Amino acid sequence: MRNDWLTILCAGILVFITAFCSSLMKEEYADISPQSMDQMVRSLSGQRLRSYAQELSSEKYAGRLSGTQEYKQAAEWVASFFEKWEMTPAGENGTYLQPFPNSHTIVFEGGELAYHYDPADLNKKKYYQYEQEYYPGSESGSGAITAEVVYVGYGIYAPELDYNDYEQVDVKGKIVFMEPGVPVSPKQDPEEYKKWSHYSLNLYKVKMAAAQGAKALLYHDLTVDPNTDYVKGFLVSQVGDVVANDIFSETGYTLPKVRETIQQELTPQSFETGKIFTMENLTEHHAKGTGYNVMGLIPGADPEMKDEVIIGAHLDHVGFCYEVMPGANDNASGMAVLLGVAKTLSQNPFKLGRSVLFVGFGGKEQGFLGSQAYLKDPVFPVTKTALFINLDIVGSGHILKVFGAQDFPDIWKAVRKTNRKEIGIQLIPVEFSSLERENSDADFFYKKKVPTLFFQVQDVPEYIHTTQDTADKLNPKLMQDLTHLLSFVILDFSQK
Ligand SMILES: [Zn+2]
Repeated sequence: MRNDWLTILCAGILVFITAFCSSLMKEEYADISPQSMDQMVRSLSGQRLRSYAQELSSEKYAGRLSGTQEYKQAAEWVASFFEKWEMTPAGENGTYLQPFPNSHTIVFEGGELAYHYDPADLNKKKYYQYEQEYYPGSESGSGAITAEVVYVGYGIYAPELDYNDYEQVDVKGKIVFMEPGVPVSPKQDPEEYKKWSHYSLNLYKVKMAAAQGAKALLYHDLTVDPNTDYVKGFLVSQVGDVVANDIFSETGYTLPKVRETIQQELTPQSFETGKIFTMENLTEHHAKGTGYNVMGLIPGADPEMKDEVIIGAHLDHVGFCYEVMPGANDNASGMAVLLGVAKTLSQNPFKLGRSVLFVGFGGKEQGFLGSQAYLKDPVFPVTKTALFINLDIVGSGHILKVFGAQDFPDIWKAVRKTNRKEIGIQLIPVEFSSLERENSDADFFYKKKVPTLFFQVQDVPEYIHTTQDTADKLNPKLMQDLTHLLSFVILDFSQK
């Protein structure tokens, strides 16, 4: 009798241990009850996501300018989570980091921008306020210049379009003032815009101005933007309307009118303004920097599935320009969602069929260096990427645009269905515009024919690339909803 009880007890313990052990082992996705899947995905909170974004936008990473030590520390902070969650290192030499060459320029405090409003007495100056009225250029040369300002429209010399902003004016040794973009809008005339779009690159504009003999550039765009190149000794500052109005004052012209004429007639309206300005920028160029992508993998369990899903977001931002540019929305928000999905999927007790690779890109703000480095040396052949999801500025408002939704209707339908059933974010499907020049990491995957969806808030806030892009402005609910949605989508997608 006593032996029987012992046998039953032992058998009971054995059953319990077996059940306990198997619960520790990963289960097949198909066997999971919808409730437990649901709970697992929804346990990731918006507050946690905001704390990720808060950390990445904090002072210690100095605005995450790719190429700097502070950026590398931010990448290592992300990698520490990949390691903690036991994701497979997918970078170089068994690490989570993929290095690439990344020159960069540090801007120091202490320069100036001033207008000599009395040409008879150059000591009389009006100083412009940093941030409200101007920013030193992120890739400016170092030094000072006092010279006349010449207005050069869009700063374009395009012989094939019979257009030359430099034709009527002498810019040698002077400061040129120009508009961003090109005189043709993609909305008005997509075909015409295609011919002009490559002249909209800041890099082009800086190099052309320097080639024409100008010594410096005032660029009518009051944001911090390192997506250009360093030209030794050539000064650049980004200026707003206050500076523009002073340059045009008493010239008999107004900037809006002149701009309109250029756009309507496609004829240059350049002129020498007679205005004397002083520019001084203090910078240090590093030609031999290194940037990093940070990459962690959740290997798929199904040997039949030989392609993979990538979820990517750029980790870098525009750095330090007197003050830290926090870049909470751009793009600590995208990295936070990426980390949220990585945590959910790596910690989940179910096997993923397909592999899922998480990539924080470096060098996006300096011209998409990280995504291009990845595509040159991918973890899986690019043709084996079944889906690329890109997140860039996903932390404000309530509505998200989904670029690529109309290009990849089957994937979009699945996302929309999951969203309607589980989450209910307001999503707006958008076609990938092949007209405009690249403005996201997603464009480069799309061009390689990878099925790509790119999420971004409907209204990109004005504070992007300024000191005002701070974590307190983020909407944790939107980030949480997007994290849950992508977790459901990838769980589902990784099985078929
Ligand atoms: Zn940006």
